[in-house]
Amino acid sequence: MFLNLKLSTKRILKYAVILLLTFLPSYLTASGKPSTNVIVPGKIEVKGIRYWSTSDYTRVVIDLSGTVEFSKNRISNPDRLYFDLMDTTIAREIKTSLPVGDGILKTVRAGQFKHDIVRVVLDLEEIADFNAFVLDDPARFVIDVYGKEKIKKPDTVIAKRKIVIDAGHGGHDPGAVGLRGLYEKDVVLDIALKLKKILLADKLNEVFLTRETDVFLPLEERTAIANKKGADLFVSIHANASPGRQARGIETYLLNWTDNEEAIRVAARENHISLKKMKAMHRQMDVMDIIKSDLIRQNKRDESIKLAHYIQKSMVSTMNSSHENILDLGVKQALFYVLFGARMPSVLVEVSFISNPEEERLLSSDSYRMQIAEAIAGGLNKYITSIPTVQKVAGVRGHNSH
Ligand SMILES: [Zn+2]
Repeated sequence: MFLNLKLSTKRILKYAVILLLTFLPSYLTASGKPSTNVIVPGKIEVKGIRYWSTSDYTRVVIDLSGTVEFSKNRISNPDRLYFDLMDTTIAREIKTSLPVGDGILKTVRAGQFKHDIVRVVLDLEEIADFNAFVLDDPARFVIDVYGKEKIKKPDTVIAKRKIVIDAGHGGHDPGAVGLRGLYEKDVVLDIALKLKKILLADKLNEVFLTRETDVFLPLEERTAIANKKGADLFVSIHANASPGRQARGIETYLLNWTDNEEAIRVAARENHISLKKMKAMHRQMDVMDIIKSDLIRQNKRDESIKLAHYIQKSMVSTMNSSHENILDLGVKQALFYVLFGARMPSVLVEVSFISNPEEERLLSSDSYRMQIAEAIAGGLNKYITSIPTVQKVAGVRGHNSH
């Protein structure tokens, strides 16, 4: 469920009173007195709380007016996680307590813990693990909470494969724009729709698109959709761009740290952040923690590599069969927000360069887009058939978290 709640002043007062009475003990400061809820000018503002929820995964997003430093803690009796956001103040008009009740979280709440610290508290039901990280532009603090693994009965029939396809950008975000005015958001949506149609020809495929129309979706919501659907595979489709108009070719990415300057630049553009911020992110150690924990969970790095290679190979060979000069830029890795926290093998495909006049011309043609969709489908099918049957029957979806 997607929530973004705003309240009238009257109701906020009511909630403030209820909150004060309900949660008083949790907000006691060291001196034993609750801190007062005062807006501190000049601080980063906590502007809202959103979440997406399933029975085994919950993503909480705290919207902020700027990037923050944070600390994380877990305490028991009652079991809860809390995060202190440094140099922050909380907006008066937001709802500061959201009931979740999904079996993982009871509630999410936030309050002015000290005059310059907003504390976010997650009251837990039962969890296996969690991750927390900050994304930039717009700044938001993301908490992924994973529930305990549910023991599933092995299916007696071949399980359906859930594939989530993500067409990059949309709405007010056109993505990269070609010299002749072609928008990345339009090209990738068309490819995604074509790909869905092709994949649905196989009755075992269940296919979902993160967007089917020209709408904007934040990057963290796209991953949350894939996790919420319990997807087995996640493919994010993009068109590439470079300041050098001669740059061209096809490349496929997976999530990982990189020192490749070009890959960092591509990720910065797709993350909608500056190259400077992207480089600063590489110096942040907590980013590495997220990725490490992501990679350990489900051993999905190996699977993502395999998936990326199948798709890349299929794209290059398919496009090469009918076009000259299709350049194979290979499989690469970088820190893409849209792949953060994805619980399944997941890749990001850069189908061609919209900034290259020749490739922009190709990308504007229906037949080229159809070929790309067929090529991605071909790669996905190769990957799916490479999975041992036992794993497929028992459920590719089983989460091998410890
Ligand atoms: Zn893009």
